[in-house]
Amino acid sequence: MQMNGATSERAYLDHAATTALLPEAAEAWRETASRVGNPSSLHAAGRASRRVVEEARESIADDLRVRPSEVIFTSGGTEADNLAVKGLAWARPNRPRILCSAIEHHAVLDPVAWLGEQGRDIEWIPVDSLGRVGPEAVRERLGDDVALCTVMWANNEVGTVQPIAEIAAACAEAGVPFHTDAVQAIGQLPVDGSLPGLTSLALSGHKIGAPVGTGALVLRRDARVVPVVHGGGQEREVRSGTLDAAGIAALGVALHHAVTAQADHAARMVALRQDLIDGIVRLAPGVIVNGDRAQRLPGNVHVSFPGCEGDTLLMLLDAAGVECSTGSACTAGVPEPSHVLEAMGIDAALARGSLRFSLGCPSTSGDVDRVLEVLPGALERATRAATPRLRRTT
Ligand code: PLP
Repeated sequence: MQMNGATSERAYLDHAATTALLPEAAEAWRETASRVGNPSSLHAAGRASRRVVEEARESIADDLRVRPSEVIFTSGGTEADNLAVKGLAWARPNRPRILCSAIEHHAVLDPVAWLGEQGRDIEWIPVDSLGRVGPEAVRERLGDDVALCTVMWANNEVGTVQPIAEIAAACAEAGVPFHTDAVQAIGQLPVDGSLPGLTSLALSGHKIGAPVGTGALVLRRDARVVPVVHGGGQEREVRSGTLDAAGIAALGVALHHAVTAQADHAARMVALRQDLIDGIVRLAPGVIVNGDRAQRLPGNVHVSFPGCEGDTLLMLLDAAGVECSTGSACTAGVPEPSHVLEAMGIDAALARGSLRFSLGCPSTSGDVDRVLEVLPGALERATRAATPRLRRTT
């Protein structure tokens, strides 16, 4: 259980929320941030800063198999998703329909819903009980009145990986722009930004070892978008604002590491994931493992414990040194079942008893052992705490 170079008794298993800064990325950030220079300035300091940005852009483009001019730097995944969703839709005012999978992250879901409030017709593409979007469900909704279709590469809660190549190809055939949120996929799966039919792809730095506040939208050269942020005209006039050269340098380093280490990392995570799932099933025989067992993010374990409240379990595990997540949004103190589990048809009470453990680069078998050591006690207490409430409602 080694975190940030320090020995910790705690097991951090929430890498899908954010992961530790990669030392090489931190070094690239520090080196660039220690020098003055705005990449838009014409003098030597500005040109040096611009060189750093363009080298990072080339490296990112190489790693994602796209052209450097197709990399638009943003402040993270949320901004990249907003730019794609709003920008592609606004550029097609005469196409009223928008297709969006029902299990997107809020960074996509909310701008799409907002466009619905502005008068667009939103069609939520359903998923099956494993969280899979069927290409046929997309194909049958496509048409020349669709401004945009958006389906995430892999789901952040249950880890299900979508048939992105098939969906992108179907969109291309219908002449519909296709956006994918690849925030969770980068570093865990091979991600090819040059996939035929892909119009745009969002990525986030802090999920792969770069600082929070870094990210990018891969955007095809010929894709028409209306900017969300207007100003100095940076980034092909698609995203204005002084470029964060230090953050961009760090993003380039972290992404290169994530992409080159991906296959080894995935193999290691799959083995740890299997140990964790097997151990949980052994200790809690009634547990339900959610999501697709095969087409799944290597680092994702998502489970539902019948008769438990996930929030209670999370607190008990936290107190015992295990950090994970429930995935449910807490509105005004009332836990709401996740829209992802709801779309998969999972019963609301069962959904509330869910936990996500997400493994990352620093994860070890010691972390898995720690979960399995403390889980039985936490489960017993969480079940006891839930019992009176369950009785009241029956
Ligand atoms: N998309 C997905 C699938 C995510 O998991 C996240 C973050 O959790 C985001 C988008 C938002 O990215 P950021 O935190 O960089 O804004």
